Amino acid sequence: MSWKAIQKENFTDIEELAAFLELPYGTPLLKKSRFPLNLPRRLALKIRKNSLEDPILRQFLPTEDENVPSGHKDPVQDISFQKTSHLLHKYAGRMLIITTGACAMNCRFCFRQNYEYGPGGDFSQELQILSQDETIEEVLLSGGDPLSLSNRRLEILLEKLALIPHIKRIRFHTRFPIGIPERIDEAFLALLEKCPKQIIFTLHVNLAEELDADILLALKKIARLGIPILTQTVLLRGVNDKVEVLKKLFLTLVNNGLIPYYLHQLDPVQGAMHFEVPMNTDLLQALHAELPGYALPRFVKEEPFAKGKTLL
Ligand SMILES: *Cc1c(COP(=O)(O)O)cnc(C)c1O
Ligand code: SF4
Repeated sequence: MSWKAIQKENFTDIEELAAFLELPYGTPLLKKSRFPLNLPRRLALKIRKNSLEDPILRQFLPTEDENVPSGHKDPVQDISFQKTSHLLHKYAGRMLIITTGACAMNCRFCFRQNYEYGPGGDFSQELQILSQDETIEEVLLSGGDPLSLSNRRLEILLEKLALIPHIKRIRFHTRFPIGIPERIDEAFLALLEKCPKQIIFTLHVNLAEELDADILLALKKIARLGIPILTQTVLLRGVNDKVEVLKKLFLTLVNNGLIPYYLHQLDPVQGAMHFEVPMNTDLLQALHAELPGYALPRFVKEEPFAKGKTLL
């Protein structure tokens, strides 16, 4: 099956998911949400039945916890850094293209869940701005998830970026392979391989249990092209806020050639404040005592007007 056909099988009906997972009677499901349920089957199959405690489930199940009105619609002030609605310039030397609003899955804590993506285009205005600013050495492809775009659209975008001499690196920010590793198909690998710029991947992964042999094999195929794969993790209450859980995750990553890059303090987005872990660096100190240095990511927080992610 093609990745697009697999994506069409995602759970999007909350009653259907509740029945599939045999969720306890009386679970406070959020039946209507402007940020709807979207969960790939692969992830749903990893969730323990008849429980609300499963750490994968907690990341994807819309519940009434989201109705608490605390937090911000745009917690990281994306809006203040827009060159266009699809291009952000926050940090020196790097610009970020919001390639699409579409995603393989909808994480309830997504900090861009309220972003006004607007219609997708051919990025001509964004490419124009990038080509005129010689201080920009790196372009981040984000979203949504850039791997939601077709291979053809990605190929065209990479070809156009490759024509800009001052751009040295192109970074994909993705979580797609965690839900649908079939996305890493031959055509995608071919377009990565022929790109003359250095490509870097940053994979969003929050638990060792999100990974499996198919996903690791797909990532290996990318790594074999000389593409470093960094990872980022969001610290989430009731999901991965325990030393043992993070230790297992980071060791699983390094055991498979993936480099833990960032551990993010939650961006305080409205509807996700029940995931917040109070600021505390004990967790990191405990991990520091147990892990090799390269297995310990930088613990960071995004402060809206800082020059880079703030190290904690
Ligand atoms: C996080 C982020 C980056 C990348 O920051 P690095 O520290 O280089 O990983 C770039 N642009 C924006 C808008 C970001 O939010
Ligand atoms: S994968 Fe990333 S962009 Fe997509 S919903 Fe999750 S956090 Fe948001």
